[in-house]
Amino acid sequence: MVEFPLYKSEKRKKINTLQNFFLSFIVSYALCTSSTAQTAGGFVKEKYMELPVNAIKPKGWLLNQLKIMREGSTGHLDEVHNKIKNDNGWLGGKGDGWEETPYWLDGAVPLAYLLDDKDLKEKVLRYINWTLDNQRPSGYFGPITKRERQTGRKVTTDSCQDGEDWWPKMIMLKVLQQYYMATNDPRVVPFMTRYFQYQLKTLKACPIPKWTEWAQSRGADNVLIAQWLYGVTKDPSLLRVAELIHAQSFAWSEWFLGRDWVISAATQQNHVRWMTRHGVNVGMGIKDPVVHYQRTGDTIYLKALRTGFNDLMTLHGLPFGVFSADEDLHGNDPTQGTELCAIVEAMFSLEQAIGVTGETRYMDALERMTFNALPAQTTDDYNNKQYFQIANQVNIKRGVFNFSLPFERGMNNVLGMRSGYTCCLANMHQGWTKFTSHLWYATPDKGLAALHFSPNQLKTKVGDDNTEVTIDEVTFYPFSSTINFLISLQREVSFPLHLRIPAWCKEAGILLNGQPFRKGKGGQITIISRKWKNGDKVTLELPMEVSTSNWGRNSRAVERGPLVYGLKLEEHWQKETDEKEGDYFNVLTTSAWNYGLIDSIVKQPANAVQVREIKPVGENFVWNLANAPIELKVFGKKIPDWKVVNDVAPQPVTARDGLYMGRVEDKAEELTLVPYGCTKLRIVAFPVVR
Ligand SMILES: [Zn+2]
Repeated sequence: MVEFPLYKSEKRKKINTLQNFFLSFIVSYALCTSSTAQTAGGFVKEKYMELPVNAIKPKGWLLNQLKIMREGSTGHLDEVHNKIKNDNGWLGGKGDGWEETPYWLDGAVPLAYLLDDKDLKEKVLRYINWTLDNQRPSGYFGPITKRERQTGRKVTTDSCQDGEDWWPKMIMLKVLQQYYMATNDPRVVPFMTRYFQYQLKTLKACPIPKWTEWAQSRGADNVLIAQWLYGVTKDPSLLRVAELIHAQSFAWSEWFLGRDWVISAATQQNHVRWMTRHGVNVGMGIKDPVVHYQRTGDTIYLKALRTGFNDLMTLHGLPFGVFSADEDLHGNDPTQGTELCAIVEAMFSLEQAIGVTGETRYMDALERMTFNALPAQTTDDYNNKQYFQIANQVNIKRGVFNFSLPFERGMNNVLGMRSGYTCCLANMHQGWTKFTSHLWYATPDKGLAALHFSPNQLKTKVGDDNTEVTIDEVTFYPFSSTINFLISLQREVSFPLHLRIPAWCKEAGILLNGQPFRKGKGGQITIISRKWKNGDKVTLELPMEVSTSNWGRNSRAVERGPLVYGLKLEEHWQKETDEKEGDYFNVLTTSAWNYGLIDSIVKQPANAVQVREIKPVGENFVWNLANAPIELKVFGKKIPDWKVVNDVAPQPVTARDGLYMGRVEDKAEELTLVPYGCTKLRIVAFPVVR
């Protein structure tokens, strides 16, 4: 069997850890003497710090999205999903005690506090209370283990073998961190401290991969919370735990830097080390360089993140903003698809990357995923989801498609509650909720930063005297180019306000109290430092121009601002039932979809594409075809030989100049494109014709 160079990494990892130790020592020393952002021991303060989840109140269309989730699966999964409903392990029962309950809580907890919803808070508190109340004296926590039931003895530091998988506890730590940020519950910090002490004492005898490769591939999430707690308590032993987990987990940072991993992943879909190509693991692995940079101050990790993310999107990127991830990374052909878990996990990783690095490229990437990939994969009521969505998706139905997956029954593409595998049903709740809770960050100099945008209200404290401030962010973004920030204060206060200007925006205009104040180029953060008074208003104008981007097999996507547009296709929904996987929907169309875009339009899209604002974005906005607020009108021609084969639309290859060389109909037809996030069926990656 061929051994790929990157797979020798276990040995290299040890060497690199040592090298990194010395390198980080040198870098830390250099940074310590030159920068105030660095604290003793190499630990780097975030550029932008998270705010408590309940500081932000969603408004407008975003509030409606979260209310739909509360009325639907996020608010009620514990009543309908057997793994959570039946004798739950996280409530002391003998039922499921693995990942799905913590997955659900990881989205339900922020939802409860974002909406200040009493009932949902009570629901999630049952699991949090049980977890906090049933920590073993050793620090171990989680469902009663099989050995504990057999022996009647609780897990101790000397009997860590009687414990179970580290992985689901990593999710529960994220749940507890959000809960603590919202409530300051005094039980959480001592609880976590005891657990990390337990890990420090037992990781040699019971290392991270002991029970599952899931834990080994996802160790960065464990590290993330250990380091978050270090930020609270400054207990240096937490950094030792973090270092130990790093050494025992997948070497994502090294692989991102080495590059042969991402190339091999494009060509190999066999069983060898497949967990290193598993899309959800990769989405989570994006945060690996982030947390290790934070701990060590070693800028090699910043390079690893930039290189790794860029390589991932170059080799495996799809127009909706995420890499192909049907278990394997699967290249950039528009017939490929992505698992919903991979999307929400990649979003969360980017939210961490934004905080620690402050780099705008990750902010642009987060918006692209959130406003395009995320809404396309769930139904209006948030009760059904696709396990995998496909970029050019001309039918949603049972079938094998282009997925390299061992599951039978062909249920991975349909829209169902229990179709495919149920990880996404439990995990999809963290997407919108954490996007909302990261709409604002605090700056180290006691100011605020709006780094991606949606309607909301922020209440927090700013300035040297911790003055209370309310900021209403009033906007229809991402559908509108204007964002207003209305500032309410009891007294005047000085603080910096950081605003991101997206890279797609050529030149932003900033108005202060209605008067032109500043202009700014895209791809940077503009900082307004002044003494603010009650009633001040900042307006950010981000002119959106139509452009095209280049994707797999030399296809083109049409974009405008943060949104990618897809061909509007009539949808016919059919409800079906599978004996094992329950109710689900097929979505089929009778609309013609086999169009290429005319090359003159592709070359000059800003002039040739008509933009029509056809519907206001009301309070009841839902991401669907009926509500699509904007349409683009373009001309295209039919490619008669472009047909469905094995349920996918095999992408016609285009020549180097971008033109499809096969048969094309003479007649140019006007096509309607709508925001990708409003579609279930679409062509988004178009061939180009003359
Ligand atoms: Zn999933």
